[in-house]
Amino acid sequence: MSWLDDTDDDDDLAYDESSIRSRPNPKANRPRTKRRPAHADAQIVRVLGVDRGRYTVLADEDGPDERRVLVTRARELRKQPIVNGDRARAVGDLSGDEGTLGRIVGIEDRTSLLRRSADDTDQVERVIVANADQMLIVVAAADPEPRERLVDRYLVAALDAGMRPLLVVTKTDLADPTEFLSHFDGIDLRVFTSAQEAMPLDEIGQAIAGHATVFVGHSGVGKSTLVNALTGSERAIGHVNVVTGRGRHTSSSAVSLRYRGPAGSGWVIDTPGVRSFGLGHVNPAHVLGAFTDLAEVAEDCPRGCTHLPDAPDCAIAEAVASGRLGPGAAARLDSLHRLLTTFQAIERSRLEG
Ligand code: GDP
Ligand code: ZN
Repeated sequence: MSWLDDTDDDDDLAYDESSIRSRPNPKANRPRTKRRPAHADAQIVRVLGVDRGRYTVLADEDGPDERRVLVTRARELRKQPIVNGDRARAVGDLSGDEGTLGRIVGIEDRTSLLRRSADDTDQVERVIVANADQMLIVVAAADPEPRERLVDRYLVAALDAGMRPLLVVTKTDLADPTEFLSHFDGIDLRVFTSAQEAMPLDEIGQAIAGHATVFVGHSGVGKSTLVNALTGSERAIGHVNVVTGRGRHTSSSAVSLRYRGPAGSGWVIDTPGVRSFGLGHVNPAHVLGAFTDLAEVAEDCPRGCTHLPDAPDCAIAEAVASGRLGPGAAARLDSLHRLLTTFQAIERSRLEG
Protein backbone atom coordinates (compact mmCIF):
# COMPACT_ATOMS: atom_id res chain seq x y z
CA MET A 1 0.00 0.00 0.00
CA SER A 2 1.33 3.40 -0.84
CA TRP A 3 1.27 6.33 1.51
CA LEU A 4 -0.91 8.07 -1.05
CA ASP A 5 -3.69 5.82 0.07
CA ASP A 6 -5.66 7.46 2.80
CA THR A 7 -7.42 4.28 3.77
CA ASP A 8 -5.55 1.97 6.03
CA ASP A 9 -6.35 -1.59 7.08
CA ASP A 10 -4.05 -1.35 10.03
CA ASP A 11 -6.48 -1.04 12.91
CA ASP A 12 -4.02 0.98 14.96
CA LEU A 13 -4.35 3.95 12.71
CA ALA A 14 -8.11 4.23 13.10
CA TYR A 15 -7.91 5.16 16.77
CA ASP A 16 -6.69 8.04 18.74
CA GLU A 17 -4.44 6.23 21.15
CA SER A 18 -3.64 9.25 23.25
CA SER A 19 -7.25 10.12 23.93
CA ILE A 20 -7.99 6.55 24.89
CA ARG A 21 -5.13 6.60 27.32
CA SER A 22 -6.18 9.90 28.85
CA ARG A 23 -9.59 8.61 29.87
CA PRO A 24 -10.28 6.51 32.93
CA ASN A 25 -10.43 2.93 31.89
CA PRO A 26 -13.90 1.66 32.87
CA LYS A 27 -12.97 -1.97 32.54
CA ALA A 28 -9.77 -3.47 33.76
CA ASN A 29 -7.66 -5.19 31.11
CA ARG A 30 -9.79 -3.74 28.39
CA PRO A 31 -7.78 -3.96 25.22
CA ARG A 32 -6.49 -0.56 24.09
CA THR A 33 -7.57 -1.34 20.57
CA LYS A 34 -11.29 -1.26 21.31
CA ARG A 35 -12.98 0.45 18.40
CA ARG A 36 -14.12 4.03 18.92
CA PRO A 37 -14.81 6.90 16.52
CA ALA A 38 -11.57 8.70 15.88
CA HIS A 39 -11.40 12.46 16.26
CA ALA A 40 -15.02 13.42 15.71
CA ASP A 41 -14.01 16.85 17.01
CA ALA A 42 -11.22 17.40 14.48
CA GLN A 43 -11.07 20.71 12.61
CA ILE A 44 -10.00 21.00 9.00
CA VAL A 45 -6.98 23.29 8.69
CA ARG A 46 -4.74 24.35 5.81
CA VAL A 47 -1.03 23.59 6.01
CA LEU A 48 0.87 26.81 5.26
CA GLY A 49 4.40 25.82 6.08
CA VAL A 50 6.51 23.01 7.45
CA ASP A 51 9.55 23.35 9.62
CA ARG A 52 11.30 20.46 11.35
CA GLY A 53 8.24 18.43 12.24
CA ARG A 54 6.19 21.47 13.22
CA TYR A 55 3.49 22.80 10.94
CA THR A 56 1.98 26.24 10.67
CA VAL A 57 -1.65 25.80 9.74
CA LEU A 58 -4.58 28.11 9.14
CA ALA A 59 -7.69 27.40 11.19
CA ASP A 60 -11.18 28.76 10.44
CA GLU A 61 -10.05 29.86 6.99
CA ASP A 62 -12.07 32.87 5.80
CA GLY A 63 -14.09 32.69 9.01
CA PRO A 64 -14.34 35.26 11.80
CA ASP A 65 -11.69 33.46 13.85
CA GLU A 66 -9.19 32.79 11.08
CA ARG A 67 -5.85 32.26 12.78
CA ARG A 68 -2.47 30.65 12.43
CA VAL A 69 -1.90 27.69 14.68
CA LEU A 70 1.19 25.68 15.39
CA VAL A 71 0.72 21.92 15.31
CA THR A 72 2.72 18.76 15.42
CA ARG A 73 1.90 15.40 13.88
CA ALA A 74 0.25 12.52 15.67
CA ARG A 75 2.27 9.33 15.89
CA GLU A 76 -0.51 7.41 14.20
CA LEU A 77 0.37 9.16 10.94
CA ARG A 78 3.68 7.34 10.94
CA LYS A 79 5.66 8.39 7.90
CA GLN A 80 2.79 9.78 5.88
CA PRO A 81 4.02 13.08 4.47
CA ILE A 82 2.23 16.30 5.35
CA VAL A 83 2.98 18.98 2.78
CA ASN A 84 2.16 22.54 2.02
CA GLY A 85 -1.41 22.93 0.84
CA ASP A 86 -2.64 19.84 2.62
CA ARG A 87 -6.03 19.99 4.29
CA ALA A 88 -5.41 18.33 7.60
CA ARG A 89 -7.61 17.17 10.44
CA ALA A 90 -6.34 18.73 13.62
CA VAL A 91 -7.20 18.27 17.29
CA GLY A 92 -5.95 19.56 20.63
CA ASP A 93 -5.29 23.18 21.46
CA LEU A 94 -6.04 25.04 18.25
CA SER A 95 -6.40 28.45 19.89
CA GLY A 96 -3.22 29.65 18.26
CA ASP A 97 -2.18 31.18 21.58
CA GLU A 98 1.50 31.49 22.32
CA GLY A 99 3.02 28.25 23.52
CA THR A 100 0.15 26.04 22.36
CA LEU A 101 0.60 23.09 20.09
CA GLY A 102 -2.22 21.28 18.31
CA ARG A 103 -1.92 17.95 16.58
CA ILE A 104 -2.58 16.73 13.06
CA VAL A 105 -4.32 13.37 13.10
CA GLY A 106 -5.20 12.93 9.45
CA ILE A 107 -4.88 14.26 5.93
CA GLU A 108 -7.89 14.87 3.71
CA ASP A 109 -7.91 13.44 0.20
CA ARG A 110 -5.75 15.51 -2.13
CA THR A 111 -7.05 16.95 -5.38
CA SER A 112 -3.55 17.22 -6.83
CA LEU A 113 -0.01 16.44 -5.85
CA LEU A 114 3.08 18.09 -7.26
CA ARG A 115 6.02 15.75 -7.09
CA ARG A 116 9.55 15.87 -8.19
CA SER A 117 12.48 13.54 -8.24
CA ALA A 118 16.02 14.74 -7.77
CA ASP A 119 16.84 13.83 -11.35
CA ASP A 120 15.39 11.84 -14.21
CA THR A 121 16.74 8.51 -12.99
CA ASP A 122 15.62 9.03 -9.40
CA GLN A 123 12.61 6.86 -8.71
CA VAL A 124 12.10 8.33 -5.28
CA GLU A 125 9.44 10.91 -5.61
CA ARG A 126 9.25 13.82 -3.24
CA VAL A 127 5.98 15.55 -2.65
CA ILE A 128 6.24 19.31 -2.78
CA VAL A 129 2.73 20.72 -2.75
CA ALA A 130 -0.78 19.34 -2.40
CA ASN A 131 -4.09 20.63 -3.72
CA ALA A 132 -2.73 23.31 -6.05
CA ASP A 133 -4.67 23.66 -9.28
CA GLN A 134 -2.30 25.94 -11.17
CA MET A 135 1.42 26.23 -11.76
CA LEU A 136 2.87 29.64 -12.57
CA ILE A 137 6.21 29.26 -14.30
CA VAL A 138 8.53 32.26 -14.03
CA VAL A 139 11.29 32.76 -16.60
CA ALA A 140 13.32 35.86 -17.40
CA ALA A 141 13.62 37.26 -20.91
CA ALA A 142 17.30 37.66 -20.08
CA ASP A 143 19.69 37.40 -17.12
CA PRO A 144 19.38 34.46 -16.80
CA GLU A 145 18.72 33.47 -20.41
CA PRO A 146 15.41 31.64 -20.78
CA ARG A 147 15.64 27.97 -21.62
CA GLU A 148 12.80 26.43 -23.57
CA ARG A 149 13.57 22.99 -22.38
CA LEU A 150 13.26 23.92 -18.74
CA VAL A 151 9.82 25.37 -19.38
CA ASP A 152 8.90 22.18 -21.22
CA ARG A 153 9.84 20.22 -18.14
CA TYR A 154 7.80 22.44 -15.85
CA LEU A 155 4.89 22.03 -18.25
CA VAL A 156 5.15 18.27 -18.11
CA ALA A 157 5.33 18.36 -14.31
CA ALA A 158 2.26 20.61 -14.17
CA LEU A 159 0.22 18.52 -16.56
CA ASP A 160 1.26 15.34 -14.83
CA ALA A 161 -0.02 16.79 -11.56
CA GLY A 162 -3.25 17.96 -13.16
CA MET A 163 -2.44 21.66 -12.87
CA ARG A 164 -3.19 24.42 -15.32
CA PRO A 165 0.09 26.05 -16.41
CA LEU A 166 0.66 29.82 -16.56
CA LEU A 167 3.85 31.47 -17.79
CA VAL A 168 5.27 34.81 -16.69
CA VAL A 169 8.23 36.21 -18.61
CA THR A 170 9.99 38.80 -16.46
CA LYS A 171 12.66 41.35 -17.34
CA THR A 172 11.14 42.21 -20.70
CA ASP A 173 12.82 45.58 -20.16
CA LEU A 174 16.09 43.75 -20.82
CA ALA A 175 15.18 41.68 -23.87
CA ASP A 176 12.35 41.00 -26.31
CA PRO A 177 10.86 37.59 -25.49
CA THR A 178 8.98 37.19 -28.79
CA GLU A 179 11.30 34.60 -30.26
CA PHE A 180 11.48 32.62 -27.04
CA LEU A 181 7.70 32.67 -26.75
CA SER A 182 7.18 31.46 -30.31
CA HIS A 183 8.34 28.09 -29.02
CA PHE A 184 5.10 27.79 -27.07
CA ASP A 185 2.66 28.72 -29.83
CA GLY A 186 -0.13 26.23 -29.80
CA ILE A 187 0.44 25.04 -26.26
CA ASP A 188 -2.43 25.67 -23.87
CA LEU A 189 -0.56 28.24 -21.88
CA ARG A 190 -1.57 31.68 -20.67
CA VAL A 191 1.43 34.01 -21.02
CA PHE A 192 2.13 37.26 -19.13
CA THR A 193 5.06 39.57 -19.74
CA SER A 194 6.50 41.65 -16.95
CA ALA A 195 9.06 44.44 -16.73
CA GLN A 196 10.69 46.13 -13.77
CA GLU A 197 8.38 49.16 -13.87
CA ALA A 198 5.41 47.42 -15.45
CA MET A 199 4.37 44.29 -13.63
CA PRO A 200 0.94 43.06 -14.75
CA LEU A 201 -0.21 42.49 -11.17
CA ASP A 202 -3.93 42.92 -11.80
CA GLU A 203 -3.87 40.57 -14.79
CA ILE A 204 -1.91 37.91 -12.93
CA GLY A 205 -4.12 38.54 -9.90
CA GLN A 206 -7.17 37.84 -11.97
CA ALA A 207 -5.67 34.52 -13.05
CA ILE A 208 -4.73 33.43 -9.53
CA ALA A 209 -7.79 34.68 -7.61
CA GLY A 210 -9.89 31.74 -6.56
CA HIS A 211 -7.01 29.32 -7.17
CA ALA A 212 -4.04 27.79 -5.41
CA THR A 213 -1.07 28.48 -7.65
CA VAL A 214 2.42 27.06 -7.26
CA PHE A 215 5.14 29.48 -8.35
CA VAL A 216 8.22 27.83 -9.83
CA GLY A 217 11.33 29.18 -11.47
CA HIS A 218 15.10 29.16 -11.38
CA SER A 219 16.77 31.53 -8.98
CA GLY A 220 17.40 35.01 -10.34
CA VAL A 221 14.41 35.13 -12.65
CA GLY A 222 12.51 37.57 -10.41
CA LYS A 223 10.13 35.17 -8.73
CA SER A 224 10.56 36.74 -5.29
CA THR A 225 10.00 40.19 -6.73
CA LEU A 226 6.77 38.96 -8.27
CA VAL A 227 5.60 37.05 -5.20
CA ASN A 228 6.31 40.06 -2.99
CA ALA A 229 4.47 42.41 -5.28
CA LEU A 230 1.46 40.10 -5.40
CA THR A 231 1.23 39.13 -1.75
CA GLY A 232 2.76 42.16 -0.01
CA SER A 233 3.77 41.69 3.57
CA GLU A 234 2.34 38.18 3.68
CA ARG A 235 5.55 36.82 2.37
CA ALA A 236 7.57 38.23 5.24
CA ILE A 237 5.12 36.63 7.66
CA GLY A 238 5.30 33.33 5.91
CA HIS A 239 9.06 33.32 5.97
CA VAL A 240 9.53 34.10 9.62
CA ASN A 241 10.38 30.92 11.40
CA VAL A 242 7.30 30.66 13.56
CA VAL A 243 8.65 27.67 15.42
CA THR A 244 11.90 29.06 16.72
CA GLY A 245 11.11 32.72 16.18
CA ARG A 246 14.57 32.97 14.71
CA GLY A 247 15.35 34.92 11.57
CA ARG A 248 14.23 33.92 8.15
CA HIS A 249 12.87 30.70 6.89
CA THR A 250 15.79 29.00 5.22
CA SER A 251 14.28 25.59 4.74
CA SER A 252 13.71 24.36 1.23
CA SER A 253 10.05 23.69 1.79
CA ALA A 254 7.29 25.58 0.08
CA VAL A 255 5.33 28.34 1.76
CA SER A 256 1.70 29.36 1.20
CA LEU A 257 0.95 33.07 0.95
CA ARG A 258 -2.37 34.77 0.60
CA TYR A 259 -3.09 36.86 -2.45
CA ARG A 260 -5.75 39.53 -2.03
CA GLY A 261 -6.61 41.74 -4.95
CA PRO A 262 -9.40 43.36 -6.92
CA ALA A 263 -10.44 40.02 -8.36
CA GLY A 264 -10.64 38.25 -5.02
CA SER A 265 -8.27 36.15 -2.97
CA GLY A 266 -6.18 33.13 -3.74
CA TRP A 267 -3.13 31.22 -2.61
CA VAL A 268 0.41 31.67 -3.87
CA ILE A 269 2.61 28.72 -3.01
CA ASP A 270 6.22 29.78 -3.31
CA THR A 271 8.76 27.05 -3.80
CA PRO A 272 12.20 28.37 -2.82
CA GLY A 273 13.83 24.97 -2.91
CA VAL A 274 12.89 23.71 -6.33
CA ARG A 275 16.05 24.03 -8.34
CA SER A 276 15.52 21.08 -10.59
CA PHE A 277 12.54 19.21 -11.79
CA GLY A 278 13.66 15.68 -12.38
CA LEU A 279 10.86 13.85 -14.07
CA GLY A 280 11.77 10.33 -13.04
CA HIS A 281 8.33 9.76 -11.56
CA VAL A 282 6.31 11.06 -14.50
CA ASN A 283 4.41 8.74 -16.76
CA PRO A 284 5.90 9.22 -20.26
CA ALA A 285 2.40 8.94 -21.68
CA HIS A 286 1.66 12.32 -20.10
CA VAL A 287 4.49 14.06 -21.95
CA LEU A 288 2.52 14.47 -25.12
CA GLY A 289 -0.17 16.23 -23.10
CA ALA A 290 2.08 19.27 -22.74
CA PHE A 291 1.87 19.81 -26.48
CA THR A 292 -1.80 20.26 -27.16
CA ASP A 293 -1.61 20.68 -30.93
CA LEU A 294 0.77 17.75 -31.34
CA ALA A 295 -1.36 15.54 -29.12
CA GLU A 296 -4.33 16.25 -31.36
CA VAL A 297 -2.66 15.08 -34.56
CA ALA A 298 -1.10 12.11 -32.72
CA GLU A 299 -4.55 10.54 -32.80
CA ASP A 300 -3.73 9.68 -36.42
CA CYS A 301 -0.45 7.96 -35.52
CA PRO A 302 -0.05 4.22 -36.06
CA ARG A 303 -0.91 2.21 -32.96
CA GLY A 304 2.05 2.14 -30.55
CA CYS A 305 3.81 5.04 -32.28
CA THR A 306 6.73 6.32 -30.19
CA HIS A 307 6.59 9.75 -31.91
CA LEU A 308 10.40 9.66 -31.92
CA PRO A 309 12.40 10.83 -34.96
CA ASP A 310 12.74 7.25 -36.24
CA ALA A 311 9.05 6.35 -35.81
CA PRO A 312 7.55 5.24 -39.15
CA ASP A 313 4.48 7.17 -40.36
CA CYS A 314 4.32 9.36 -37.25
CA ALA A 315 1.38 11.68 -37.89
CA ILE A 316 2.98 14.43 -35.79
CA ALA A 317 6.12 14.46 -37.93
CA GLU A 318 3.97 14.53 -41.07
CA ALA A 319 1.79 17.37 -39.82
CA VAL A 320 4.82 19.43 -38.78
CA ALA A 321 6.53 18.81 -42.13
CA SER A 322 3.39 19.91 -43.98
CA GLY A 323 3.57 23.27 -42.21
CA ARG A 324 -0.10 23.21 -41.23
CA LEU A 325 0.66 23.45 -37.50
CA GLY A 326 2.26 26.87 -37.81
CA PRO A 327 5.80 28.20 -37.58
CA GLY A 328 6.57 27.14 -34.00
CA ALA A 329 5.61 23.51 -34.48
CA ALA A 330 9.03 22.27 -35.54
CA ALA A 331 10.59 23.65 -32.37
CA ARG A 332 7.84 22.06 -30.27
CA LEU A 333 8.36 18.73 -31.98
CA ASP A 334 12.08 19.04 -31.15
CA SER A 335 11.12 19.68 -27.56
CA LEU A 336 8.80 16.67 -27.53
CA HIS A 337 11.55 14.53 -29.03
CA ARG A 338 14.02 15.68 -26.36
CA LEU A 339 11.65 14.80 -23.54
CA LEU A 340 10.60 11.49 -25.04
CA THR A 341 14.24 10.56 -25.61
CA THR A 342 14.94 11.33 -21.97
CA PHE A 343 12.17 8.97 -20.95
CA GLN A 344 13.41 6.28 -23.32
CA ALA A 345 16.81 6.48 -21.65
CA ILE A 346 15.19 6.16 -18.23
CA GLU A 347 13.21 3.12 -19.34
CA ARG A 348 16.33 1.50 -20.76
CA SER A 349 18.38 2.04 -17.62
CA ARG A 350 15.50 0.66 -15.57
CA LEU A 351 15.28 -2.50 -17.68
CA GLU A 352 19.03 -3.00 -17.59
CA GLY A 353 18.90 -2.58 -13.84
P1 GDP B 1 14.36 35.12 -7.67
O1 GDP B 1 15.69 34.50 -7.37
O2 GDP B 1 13.71 34.46 -8.82
O3 GDP B 1 13.47 35.19 -6.49
O4 GDP B 1 14.66 36.60 -8.19
P2 GDP B 1 14.54 38.00 -7.47
O5 GDP B 1 13.11 38.41 -7.35
O6 GDP B 1 15.37 38.01 -6.24
O7 GDP B 1 15.18 38.94 -8.59
C1 GDP B 1 16.51 38.74 -9.04
C2 GDP B 1 17.02 40.10 -9.56
O8 GDP B 1 16.29 40.47 -10.74
C3 GDP B 1 16.82 41.22 -8.57
O9 GDP B 1 17.95 42.04 -8.61
C4 GDP B 1 15.59 41.94 -9.10
O10 GDP B 1 15.59 43.30 -8.77
C5 GDP B 1 15.75 41.75 -10.60
N1 GDP B 1 14.47 41.82 -11.33
C6 GDP B 1 13.29 41.24 -11.00
N2 GDP B 1 12.35 41.50 -11.91
C7 GDP B 1 12.95 42.28 -12.86
C8 GDP B 1 12.49 42.87 -14.11
O11 GDP B 1 11.34 42.76 -14.51
N3 GDP B 1 13.42 43.58 -14.80
C9 GDP B 1 14.71 43.73 -14.37
N4 GDP B 1 15.54 44.44 -15.13
N5 GDP B 1 15.15 43.18 -13.24
C10 GDP B 1 14.30 42.47 -12.49
ZN1 ZN C 1 3.51 9.48 -33.70
